[in-house]
Amino acid sequence: MTATFLPATEQFIALDEEWSTHNYHPLPVVISHGEGAWVTDVEGRRYLDFLSGYSSLNFGHRHPDLVAAAVEQLGRVTLTSRAFHHDRFGAFCRELAELTGTDLVLAMNSGAEAVESAIKVARKWAYRVKGVPAGEAEIVVAGSNFHGRTTTIVSFSTDDTARDDFGPFTPGFRVVRYGSLDDLRAAVTDRTAAVLLEPVQGEAGVVVPPAGYLRGVRELCDERGVLMIADEIQSGLGRTGELFALDHEGVRADLYTLGKALGGGILPVSAVVGSRDVLGVLRPGEHGSTFGGNPLACAVGRAVVRLLATGEYQRRSRELGAHLHARLGELVGHGVAEVRGRGLWAGVEIAPGGPRGREASEALAGLGVLCKETQDTTLRVAPPLMISREDLDRGIDAIGQVLRTRG
Ligand SMILES: *Cc1c(COP(=O)(O)O)cnc(C)c1O
Repeated sequence: MTATFLPATEQFIALDEEWSTHNYHPLPVVISHGEGAWVTDVEGRRYLDFLSGYSSLNFGHRHPDLVAAAVEQLGRVTLTSRAFHHDRFGAFCRELAELTGTDLVLAMNSGAEAVESAIKVARKWAYRVKGVPAGEAEIVVAGSNFHGRTTTIVSFSTDDTARDDFGPFTPGFRVVRYGSLDDLRAAVTDRTAAVLLEPVQGEAGVVVPPAGYLRGVRELCDERGVLMIADEIQSGLGRTGELFALDHEGVRADLYTLGKALGGGILPVSAVVGSRDVLGVLRPGEHGSTFGGNPLACAVGRAVVRLLATGEYQRRSRELGAHLHARLGELVGHGVAEVRGRGLWAGVEIAPGGPRGREASEALAGLGVLCKETQDTTLRVAPPLMISREDLDRGIDAIGQVLRTRG
């Protein structure tokens, strides 16, 4: 048993390496506790969480209201399946619809499931409402998209690592350049059911489209009778300083996919929300999920909706986000090529000659800040929206320490 002589961190990592598939390459930090914006590892070292579970932890680790809602529900009933009604479901749907200004909620679990659900709904809408000939509906998507990992979703990914060896692929998608209305206009036909986009592309490196693009997409969709589907799984629920990233352009989508922060960092909760005209096409038996809309998910989801309804997290994201962008902006020309993003969310593009994203993430972990690269040269910064200004500054200082060059 040589393993027992290894430090705790190495022992845990060795266990993962031996028994888990190798579909991730985590930083060598083994977390055992979390509270607010902080996590603690198995050696007792503390780190600021500057990733927030890819925006799943918008309210921080173990927000007391969310934990209380979960604990209360654990003492009642946790799962019924949708074979029966339960007393938390309707209220969750109503409150989420009211928060988002929509009519109906399709409750699911993971983000990818929400996207799959939106694709199915858009296709059925195309055949039953728009009148597209059977089997010919198309969905237009953007290059460098990230919508999840199922076989259908990777069918329209432009990332070779996500696609290679996983074909044959699902047909019915057209990829256009993100940010180009001309490309989009050329791609839309009478058979187009929907345009599916991230209003800010998270995995691509927190890419914000040109001003007016999202509004232009909406107008084109209206002109051509096409649904606009906004994947707000990462950008939504306060991350950019508004409930939805689309709100920055005053644009409404026909369907929104939600996930990540909807589960409060406690359990997977996702949904498609939208208008009755569109989501109303589903009939019993056509779509579902055993765990979708379960009592525990609904209890936590309602508590998340209550937090967002105060507007407090959106406001914090706007105010602290302005501070984050001002301070990161000072690094441009000094080791940083560009800073993108909105609210408390930034893609920091490391200048040529600087560390790779992975090296920078490892160096930051050494300074007690957990960040993760996205793409090879971009650091994604997404602290919990409840973070204090002092903690935010502490994390930004560390980023400066790792990336800043003289000159
Ligand atoms: C994370 C993410 C997904 C997929 O969510 P999972 O819960 O990982 O399946 C889909 N779309 C966007 C924009 C995401 O950021």
